[in-house]
Amino acid sequence: MTFASLAYLVGVLLIARAMLQLGTREAYCCPVCGSKREDGHAEDCPWRRAS
Ligand SMILES: [Zn+2]
Repeated sequence: MTFASLAYLVGVLLIARAMLQLGTREAYCCPVCGSKREDGHAEDCPWRRAS
């Protein structure tokens, strides 16, 4: 495997991961309080203060 093909593979992986994150953003669900929105966490949810 050459360096060029390695760099191409990394680029494809980065793009695929970015697209995956965009897709999961629409179906966002908090693992703690189960909120469907990032700004709709429960008052005692630790993710409320994150980001
Ligand atoms: Zn939450």
